[in-house]
Amino acid sequence: MGRVDGKVAVVTGGAGGIGEAAARALAREGAHVAVVDINEEGATRVAEAIEQSGGSAVAVRADVSEEIDVISAVRSVIQHYGRLDVLHNNAALTDPTFLSSDNQVVDMSLEVWERAMAVNLRSQMLTCKHAIPEMTRSGGGSIVNMSSGASLKGDRTRTAYGVSKAGVNTLTMYVAAAHGKQGVRVNTIVPGLIMTDSVRAHLTEAMLAVLGRSTLTPRVGQPEDVANLVVFLASDESSYITGQMIAIDGGMSVHVGDFGQNRN
Ligand code: NAD
Repeated sequence: MGRVDGKVAVVTGGAGGIGEAAARALAREGAHVAVVDINEEGATRVAEAIEQSGGSAVAVRADVSEEIDVISAVRSVIQHYGRLDVLHNNAALTDPTFLSSDNQVVDMSLEVWERAMAVNLRSQMLTCKHAIPEMTRSGGGSIVNMSSGASLKGDRTRTAYGVSKAGVNTLTMYVAAAHGKQGVRVNTIVPGLIMTDSVRAHLTEAMLAVLGRSTLTPRVGQPEDVANLVVFLASDESSYITGQMIAIDGGMSVHVGDFGQNRN
């Protein structure tokens, strides 16, 4: 028996990085997985790889910032698998060119701000809106949102990204409060540094070194670390956990800095 045996799981942004690792882990633990992504080729590659290794998966192309796409993605999951138990809201704008245009407020273009809110935050509201009625039809479900350590502190750059992820934290509590009694749990994962291709593309060696020093564990995070947490939150093992922000960051969020190293 797998830990999420027979559950139907939607993973947004499943074409690569953390989403791909989560899709593979959920399938390995017995879930039927809909790999939803704007990158149809990538989603198809992941779904095919899961099927080839004996799992159950289908690729669905959707821009999750658009309600019409979300409606049709949920509809195709129901047509394919007949139910929906797990929603992992993982998609976000991680494109390096986009991130380099997300600056401080005095330099902020409205287009960048609105796009970050649409893809990183509105998408998670839209998928909740259309998945929850399907979950409650079959007695409940688990929603695992994706936030970021950037939502908990300020920085000199990436203002729109940080604020959009802070919205995810609050959305999580509101949806958990509204739908808990219907058996729908909602939690948000707050990752620190997780080494995906996107991170390698948009962080310089100097930035990686700073983040590595701030991480308290001997190694930095890998997509599989987050995937393991997604499986736990999707499974009935976590059935008394809802409305929570759960950090997975090698302790990065719990210390003030490297002052101790420089004391002598
Ligand atoms: P990634 O770039 O590998 O994955 C993001 C996926 O989202 C891609 O497959 C992309 O095609 C998809 N996507 C983008 N826009 C979309 C849209 N409009 N509709 C559907 N799909 C869309 O990134 P990652 O590093 O694996 O990050 C995954 C999640 O984890 C993101 O929410 C990110 O903000 C969060 N996160 C990552 C880190 C990290 O260090 N990697 C840290 C904190 C938070």
